Amino acid sequence: MSIGEFSARCGLSPKMLRTYAADGLLTPAAVDQVSGYRYYAPGQVHDAKTIGLLRRAGVPLVHIATFLCAPRPGRLDQWERELDNETRTRLQALAEVREHLALDARAPRTPTQYAPQRGGRRMPTLTAGSATDIGLVRASNQDALLIDDALFAVADGMGGAGEAASTLALNTLQATFARKGGPDGLLDACRAANSAVWHEAQSGAPDLADMGSTITAIGVVTRAGDEGLAAVNVGDSRAYLLHLGQLRRLTVDHSHVQDLVLAGDITEQEARLHPQRSLLTRALGIGPNVLPDVVDIPYVSGDRLLLCTDGLFTEVDEHQIGAALTSFRDRGQAATELVGLATAHGGHDNVSVVIIDIN
Ligand code: MN
Repeated sequence: MSIGEFSARCGLSPKMLRTYAADGLLTPAAVDQVSGYRYYAPGQVHDAKTIGLLRRAGVPLVHIATFLCAPRPGRLDQWERELDNETRTRLQALAEVREHLALDARAPRTPTQYAPQRGGRRMPTLTAGSATDIGLVRASNQDALLIDDALFAVADGMGGAGEAASTLALNTLQATFARKGGPDGLLDACRAANSAVWHEAQSGAPDLADMGSTITAIGVVTRAGDEGLAAVNVGDSRAYLLHLGQLRRLTVDHSHVQDLVLAGDITEQEARLHPQRSLLTRALGIGPNVLPDVVDIPYVSGDRLLLCTDGLFTEVDEHQIGAALTSFRDRGQAATELVGLATAHGGHDNVSVVIIDIN
């Protein structure tokens, strides 16, 4: 029969029939060599109706082709289950959107305006918790951490006397830190820490010659009556700010892989796995002078700060770090959780975290 008659009998348009034929489905029984007219056999009406119905059910053409070779009811049951699952998944997602929007409605619609850093601002209460662990591979814990009233820090020691280096760095930072003078007090303390480690390394003892340390510190800084928070950094330990559930990195690593990331050569993810990820471009104790980075920290009451050594973020991605900081209100528990995650992911390095709640 002609394509017109066939189309009328099976309910599929001539255009659809040509599409199916092009896909190898329902090939005409005969094609006139001269006119190109297509002819279908009466026996093809049955398959054509099956195809039409399966298309209405949204079954892909490629699956219809295999089904027509061996039409088993079991395959229909399977499509039915897949459809059920898909519908459930999509309904669930829609329900979650509803919940998500309701949560959003309670949060501010516009980004929180950070309070100005000037005008006799009073410093909120800072409360810290911490955890440190040797990990599963290293023979000693060369990390050090510091929690003081207005000063918090982590340091990651390196070299044969790495443990002495990180401890000396933080002791010197604490002893020389002055809140007055704005971030300069924090910067000077950081430079003093560098001098102390550098002089120790130059003392002539061969086992001290290669000692060095990273340092990442957060301190309360005061200038002309205004109080604020600032961070200093040398090396690849980090400071983060958790604000309304969003984790933001405050420091830039002084490392070879960070330079590669900034140049666009590798991704942050590739940096975490890079064989040269521990190669630093700046560290305390390497020379008589050091260039620390300093950054003002924008914060509101309720924010949370994190200081950590590379043993954390090399093992645990930032999404998981943010999730742990959000789900544990108790800062001590959050710190223990983060260190536990680093160990669970391999514990290849010492890991130290300090969590500071701003209230
Ligand atoms: Mn480390």
